Amino acid sequence: MDDCLFCKIIAGEIPSTKVYEDEYVYAFRDINPQAPVHVLVVPKEHIACADEVNESNSIWVARCYEAIAKIAKAEGLTNGYRVINNCGEDGGQTVMHLHFHLLGGTWLGMNII
Ligand code: 5GP
Ligand code: ZN
Repeated sequence: MDDCLFCKIIAGEIPSTKVYEDEYVYAFRDINPQAPVHVLVVPKEHIACADEVNESNSIWVARCYEAIAKIAKAEGLTNGYRVINNCGEDGGQTVMHLHFHLLGGTWLGMNII
């Protein structure tokens, strides 16, 4: 997608602090971190949001979660972490390229996010 911020970050057209990359997934530090560890885990395929996941593209979601487990270990999140996916306007999604927030490094509390 020409006009997508995260597609541009994946392509290296916009700089980011890379944490992890494989054939399917690119992960980088959030520019506005909400926890000591705040990594955005993004599929290299442009899928706008969770609502667009279906049986023909769900492999990208699986690969993201495989990456999340690796990144959490690499970041030392041995005591747990939280994964958040915002979807659409009411979900507070601001970048319309599917992504998972990996948050940790402190006790995150009992609130929704
Ligand atoms: P959303 O609100 O869509 O779930 O999450 C989008 C996230 O992308 C936000 O947490 C925001 O801080 C992050 N973000 C927005 N623009 C950039 C950017 O240019 N670089 C990085 N690293 N993160 C960004
Ligand atoms: Zn995109």
